[in-house]
Amino acid sequence: MQGGDRMGARTGKDYLRALADDREVYLDGERVDDVAAHPSLAGAARTLAGFYDYQHEHPDLLLATDPESGERVPVTHLVPRSASGLRRRHDALECISRYTLGLMGRSPDYVNVTLAGFAGRTDVWSRDGNDEGTANLLAYHRQTMLNDWSLTHAIVNVTVDRSIPETATGDGQIAVHKVADTSGGIVVRGARALATLAPFADELFVYPGYPLMEGDERYALVFAIPMSTPGLKFLCRDSYSAARGIADAPLSSRFDEQDAVVVLDNVEVPRERVFLDGKVDLYNRVMQRAGWTANIMQQTTIRAITKLQFAWELATRMTEIVNNTSPAATEMLGEIWTYLELTRSALTAAEAGAHEWGSGTWFCAEPPFAALRPTLPRWFPRVGEIIKLLGGHSLLTTPTSAEFADPALRPLIDRYYQGAKGVSAEERAAVFRLAWDFVGTGLAGRSELYERFYLGSAGRFLQVAQRTAVRGTDFGLLGSALTAGRAEDRA
Ligand SMILES: Cc1cc2nc3c(=O)[nH]c(=O)nc-3n(C[C@H](O)[C@H](O)[C@H](O)COP(=O)(O)OP(=O)(O)OC[C@H]3O[C@@H](n4cnc5c(N)ncnc54)[C@H](O)[C@@H]3O)c2cc1C
Repeated sequence: MQGGDRMGARTGKDYLRALADDREVYLDGERVDDVAAHPSLAGAARTLAGFYDYQHEHPDLLLATDPESGERVPVTHLVPRSASGLRRRHDALECISRYTLGLMGRSPDYVNVTLAGFAGRTDVWSRDGNDEGTANLLAYHRQTMLNDWSLTHAIVNVTVDRSIPETATGDGQIAVHKVADTSGGIVVRGARALATLAPFADELFVYPGYPLMEGDERYALVFAIPMSTPGLKFLCRDSYSAARGIADAPLSSRFDEQDAVVVLDNVEVPRERVFLDGKVDLYNRVMQRAGWTANIMQQTTIRAITKLQFAWELATRMTEIVNNTSPAATEMLGEIWTYLELTRSALTAAEAGAHEWGSGTWFCAEPPFAALRPTLPRWFPRVGEIIKLLGGHSLLTTPTSAEFADPALRPLIDRYYQGAKGVSAEERAAVFRLAWDFVGTGLAGRSELYERFYLGSAGRFLQVAQRTAVRGTDFGLLGSALTAGRAEDRA
């Protein structure tokens, strides 16, 4: 096992120990020696270590006893088998999302939930003779749960030319594909776009994104490998992490979860880590048939609700600090609250409609999520815009902690930066600085892009919503209206 010999839910110390391996992570043109010590990565590494400690601070909500091993494991690794199992997972996800204010989209619970959902659906994974792959997947799920690994995932191939199939770009050499079978496994090559959390993960999980076509067998691969596997390289985007204290960079000192392009340069994947190999139909089916959306969107929607709650509280306090009671401001605050309440209502509806999807596995109902999936990517940018409109110049008039500590400046700051009704300059600066880090800094820009795209673009999923609706819906209203018209003509 990686990272020491402890089994079950890890502590922050266990987590950081496991990070120190031979992973090939590049940032700003240099290979990163030690992720936990790198100035642009240390903040998020500390946050994630805190995440592992946090689960021991909330054991009733976040940990469960695995009946087979007797180990205490994270609830987010469990396969939901009933409405109450799903409810238990809801409570755990809510507690987790509060730890990052909903700002880390890919805290380890994201892939935990995905993997547990796949492991529950053996009826889907074992089709087309994929018995060995399914057995490997189940064993991997248990191994991940018992080691409490943190996983990053890569499902989308890099974009080269949108006018041709992605498997045809670069003479077929760019999308991730198998190049050889070996005695111990398979050799894979290619690149995948943006694996969030990559520098901080223990393992990379590669599973299906967009569908493949007949003849694409060598691209039909699902597997997982340790981050330090030879040939595996991660090229990080620019860092938006601020190497400053929490007072001056309240969010970007802590929550830059990073996104890296994954290059697989002749990587050998051991046979027992291959969950699907060469079966195009199954590759195309697993995401739809295994209920991926209905499963993962419980996690993502709970995180979104926490982030919207934070946004609403923050925006409300901003207006109180400058005593802005104008109808325009109140309207905009109400707009944020509306998005929050609609998101919460969709989750409630999805959980109320939860049912058994196959192999005794329970997921939410999909239609509320199908509506939310293209909608939230438009709401979040609007929430950011509202916070900018409410904040105006106050978002930038936020003295640093060094300026507050300067005895000559302090009396001036206290006088000229105060808020309405006796609000201190310190509180005003803290709230507006937090707001700017939420909507205006590099981290904020990346966060907006994340919300727009992390589950796929709004445009793509509005089309999916309409195709799904056309397939399954007949309200009978148009027919009845036309019949009424014809009846009147006849009369
Ligand atoms: C910050 C961030 C983090 C990410 N993290 C991860 C990660 O951890 N793991 C991972 O696997 N992926 C990750 N992704 C990638 C993510 O999965 C993709 O960005 C997402 O699937 C959308 O694909 P795309 O970027 O190719 O955009 P597309 O969905 O292709 O959309 C791009 C544009 O083209 C339009 N468009 C394209 N095709 C269609 C279509 N068929 N119908 C309608 N409109 C269309 C869209 O409207 C949009 O404007 C991340 C992305 C971002 C931005």
